[in-house]
Amino acid sequence: MKITDILAKEATIMLTEPLKVTFGDIKEVKTLFIKIETDTDLVGFGESCPFEPVTGETLSTEQKALEFLSPALYGQDPLQIEKIHNIMDDQIVGHTALKAGIDLALYDLLGKQANLPLYKLLGGASNQVTTDITISINPVDKMVSDAQKYVAQGFSELKIKAGLDNTHDEKAIAAILEAVDDDTVVKLDANQGWTSKQAVRFMNRFNNTKLEMLEQPLPYTNTSDNALIRQNISQDLILDESVHDAHDAFSVLQNRAADVVNIKLMKSKGIFGAEQINRVAEAAGVACMIGCMAETRLGIAAAVHFAAAHKNVHYCDLDSFMMFKEPDWLSGGFEQNGDVLTLTEAPGLGINLEF
Ligand SMILES: [Mg+2]
Repeated sequence: MKITDILAKEATIMLTEPLKVTFGDIKEVKTLFIKIETDTDLVGFGESCPFEPVTGETLSTEQKALEFLSPALYGQDPLQIEKIHNIMDDQIVGHTALKAGIDLALYDLLGKQANLPLYKLLGGASNQVTTDITISINPVDKMVSDAQKYVAQGFSELKIKAGLDNTHDEKAIAAILEAVDDDTVVKLDANQGWTSKQAVRFMNRFNNTKLEMLEQPLPYTNTSDNALIRQNISQDLILDESVHDAHDAFSVLQNRAADVVNIKLMKSKGIFGAEQINRVAEAAGVACMIGCMAETRLGIAAAVHFAAAHKNVHYCDLDSFMMFKEPDWLSGGFEQNGDVLTLTEAPGLGINLEF
């Protein structure tokens, strides 16, 4: 099989309501769909969802990088995935979300060629995952009512966004812990908004509560203090923006600086890099979470295939598609029942996309 063309299509997806995080208010998401055509009837679909504060890419830089990379990929066998990553990395450093879109399309083709759903090719530990759902920063009353609404919808894990204002964060967490039942697990994501002392003080106030995990308290540039935080809090420490690839994971875990590593396909250049991070973490005895930027159902389906395939991926934060008014030209991949996402048995990613 040979790659004959790589096409990109921009799409704007509206959110059902704005999402507030430390980076600002998000009302709509722009994403880039990738289609790899081959000299057979098979085509592969991928998604390159840029998130400027984390991967430094925009739709237009993705388009430019694709234009730059494509000539080196034409004529290559799309099933030689490591070879294609080597070519891409030799041509241009970084551009991880763009490379993820190409990677996802390659894995989609691999599954279609094998006539198997991707999770079975990656390991097949399971065909389903349980995901948490994110509560964005809002007035405390709104955050509490969102928490109650999601618990009523069947979610057992809530991820609370924090990091803008310590006093507000503390009130919000206390009120949410009070409002939800004992079976609900609460995680907090400070999105790089704290200092190490703020993190330790904050988490120690919530010892012996349902607040079980703290994600990325410090700016990603601080590579020295996460281990200190981890030693001084009772909750698990998850690192997200600090870990983009297997090298970051190795360095963080050498320093015993995380209890959980949060993989995102847009940081890891797709499934190929996600596999490497998970193996490094598993060897270090550390679990992985898989999160998302603001991917549509396509990117999320790829993340579900990866997560379901591996026992070491214990946690999923794959809720972005639930925040969207989903377009009718994109479907498939998995079915949702409460907080459980179950993959279909369709080959590859199992996605239907009008491209
Ligand atoms: Mg995060």
